[in-house]
Amino acid sequence: MTEFSSPEMHTDSFIPVMPHKMKVFIDFDGTITLTDTGEEIFRRFGSRPEIDEIIEQIRFNKITGKTGWSLLFANAPKLRLDDVHKLADEIQIDRYFESFVNVLNNNKIPFYILSDGFENYISKIFNHSKINNLKVYANKLIENEDSKIQTVFPYTDEECSDCANCKRNHILENSADDEFTVYIGNGSSDTCPAQFCDYVFAKDDLLRFCNREKITCFQYSNFAEVERTFTQLLAKRRLKKKHQAVLKRNEIYKLG
Ligand SMILES: [Mg+2]
Repeated sequence: MTEFSSPEMHTDSFIPVMPHKMKVFIDFDGTITLTDTGEEIFRRFGSRPEIDEIIEQIRFNKITGKTGWSLLFANAPKLRLDDVHKLADEIQIDRYFESFVNVLNNNKIPFYILSDGFENYISKIFNHSKINNLKVYANKLIENEDSKIQTVFPYTDEECSDCANCKRNHILENSADDEFTVYIGNGSSDTCPAQFCDYVFAKDDLLRFCNREKITCFQYSNFAEVERTFTQLLAKRRLKKKHQAVLKRNEIYKLG
């Protein structure tokens, strides 16, 4: 009997299921946290109603990310880094997030936190939530000699000024064409990067955007729901690349 005549060789069950090559990208504020830390900071320490109006303009993409941050800081002249750290201690994260992180780690799936906010409060929040060693791409706050806060934006795109931290570039730099990309987000700074990913988990403003623009996505309200759907994806024999996301990636490559 040759090996080719073995009946088992012709059944799908003998084709080994390779682990999917995946990369996962996760927004921070309002996605991992229950409230938006940036909004909380400025609603507490800034002048109202100006702060509320600026937040609305950011939410509906009426002003760029950097302009938004500069207006917010201008309307909170007494804000100090210490205030940011103290407020961060009050911020809660989705109680199912850690379990999702465990699923990613157990399956050796690389994942990245992408935030248009600031790593100063992000690291504080992860520390008090006892979640450590995550890869985070975010903006930074530093304090100058007279204790005034200065913003640092290390990841602004040279040609597109919509976001302070270009999440799209992090996705392109951290994923290959043969990998499946997953995006999880909730807000205006997620609308661009979500279009470059094969699988999108969306809630709030991102969900409304996806519905309006007919971008296929999974609706979620917490990370227990994300984990359930994500685990089903992992168990699939085949995953599909999203055609529109492939086209969007190719457009950027062509621009060089
Ligand atoms: Mg968000």
